[in-house]
Amino acid sequence: MMAAPDLVNLSGLIDDAKCFALLRQHRWPEGVRCPGCGSASVVRDGHDDTQPRRQRYRCRGCAGRFDDLTGTVLAGHHQPLRVWVLCLYLMGLNLSDRQIARELGLDASGVQAMTEQLRSGLVAKAPAVRLEGEVEIDEIYVVAGHKGQPAAVAKRGARDGAAGWREGRAAARSGRTGHRSSA
Ligand SMILES: [Zn+2]
Repeated sequence: MMAAPDLVNLSGLIDDAKCFALLRQHRWPEGVRCPGCGSASVVRDGHDDTQPRRQRYRCRGCAGRFDDLTGTVLAGHHQPLRVWVLCLYLMGLNLSDRQIARELGLDASGVQAMTEQLRSGLVAKAPAVRLEGEVEIDEIYVVAGHKGQPAAVAKRGARDGAAGWREGRAAARSGRTGHRSSA
C-alpha cells in the first residue's frame, strides 16, 4: 500500500550534507575563496553551531571569518538550505508560489520572498554593506520577459558560480500570489 503523495515530506528526504556540498560547488567551482578579500588561502574552521553541515572558514589573507552562506541572500534566513534547494527545484517545474508553498508546507508569502530571491541565483549576494571596493546593486529584479540588465545579472551570476541555478528562475511566478491563500 502506498502512502498518498501529499503525505511525503519532501524536505525530510533531502540530505543536508549534499545540499551544502552542492552549494559550495556552485559558489566556488574552483575552490573556496574569501568573500572579503578574494584570497584562496582559506582554512576550514569548524561548523556552524546550529547547522552542523554549514562549514566555517578562516582567511589567511585578511584573517576574516566566513562560512558557506556568508554574503549570500541565504545567510539571514531561518529556512534550512534544503528547503531553498527544494524551492528552486519546484520553481524549475513551473510551480506557482502557492503550489510551492503547499508542497513545502510553508506560508505563501514566505515562499514568494524566497522565489524572488532565488531568481537571482541560489547564492546571489546579499546587499553588500560590508564588502569593500565593490558596489553591489541587488535591486535588479529578474522576471520573465524583463530585459533590463542581463549583462549585469550574468556577470554577477558568473562570479558567484550560480549561473546554473537560474535556469528556472523566471518560470514560477504566476501572478496570482497576491491573493489570499485558501490553504
Ligand atoms: Zn580574506
